[in-house]
Amino acid sequence: MGRRLAVPRVWHRSVRQRYRSRRGGPRWLCGWHCSLCWPGLWCSRSRPRFAGDRAPFTCYYQPKINASDESVHSVEALVRWRHPTRGLLLPDQFLPAAEDAGLMRPLAARVLDMALTQLRSWRDDGVMVTVAVNLSTTNLLDLGLVASIARLLRTHDLPPESLILEITESTLTTDSQRARNTVAALRRLGTRLSLDDYGTGWSSLARLQDLSVDELKLDQVFVARLALDPRSIAIVRSTVALAHSLGADLVAEGVEDDATLRALRQYGCNITQGNVHSPPLPAAEIQRWLAARCPTPR
Ligand code: C2E
Ligand code: MG
Ligand code: MG
Repeated sequence: MGRRLAVPRVWHRSVRQRYRSRRGGPRWLCGWHCSLCWPGLWCSRSRPRFAGDRAPFTCYYQPKINASDESVHSVEALVRWRHPTRGLLLPDQFLPAAEDAGLMRPLAARVLDMALTQLRSWRDDGVMVTVAVNLSTTNLLDLGLVASIARLLRTHDLPPESLILEITESTLTTDSQRARNTVAALRRLGTRLSLDDYGTGWSSLARLQDLSVDELKLDQVFVARLALDPRSIAIVRSTVALAHSLGADLVAEGVEDDATLRALRQYGCNITQGNVHSPPLPAAEIQRWLAARCPTPR
């Protein structure tokens, strides 16, 4: 067990940078399980924990629901970190540090593998859903991403269209040709594409000019204010029209109550996601939720 040490963030960062640049990686930090550190993640010695039963990451799953018949459109995988002392950590609490430590690639590989394993198991049980996985900018810059997704789909014997990849506008606002090439290659592979947190970026419309997507996910800031604010109604209505005229679905995320759900459906939104249907749930619980919701073929 490593020693615990509380250190100021600035000191921590400088040490981290110093030791990250050493040959062989930040092995020195293995024994220092300080409160700001990444016990068991940072050091090369414990990197294998990204895979296998003892990996600290897990996925919670949240359904997206079709307005037409209340059926399950797809299920989004949302990563969590089972931290040994701090409990279950949300993505905002550790993704920036993972990004900083250059760990987004193994993390994405782990999440994709967990989500596709789960999808295979649902499909084997006759639940014909689709799974959605979030990708970061770093993931889109990874030249090996498309090949590793293709390999995972083959391993789990799943068609490419059973996977939705959620990217945010900001992932494409960087003028990176490499990120665009990755997106184009993912399209050619046949996976589906979703533009997450739509409306929060600076150049939403410019992105749509050269990117064909299967769904626009309207950010929850617009959804949350729907009942109170006529301007949000105008935004929802026009985004629904825009999505449909582009041949895409409009998904409203963060739907919390029935009044908002009714309003969204009245304005033509065809897919909704949020606590009003189900919060993100661990695999075993979403399995029960799906079993009760999705009739399995006889
Ligand atoms: P996101 O993809 O836009 O996911 C929606 C977030 O809203 C999730 O937060 C979800 O738990 C939360 N949410 C769902 N329903 C409701 C609701 O009714 N009300 C409210 N207030 N919130 C709701 P979460 O799980 O903390 O994820 C935050 C963000 O972290 C995600 O936003 C996504 O951008 C990122 N993320 C999650 N998993 C991954 C991953 O595996 N890889 C990457 N790169 N990013 C991920
Ligand atoms: Mg998402
Ligand atoms: Mg979102």
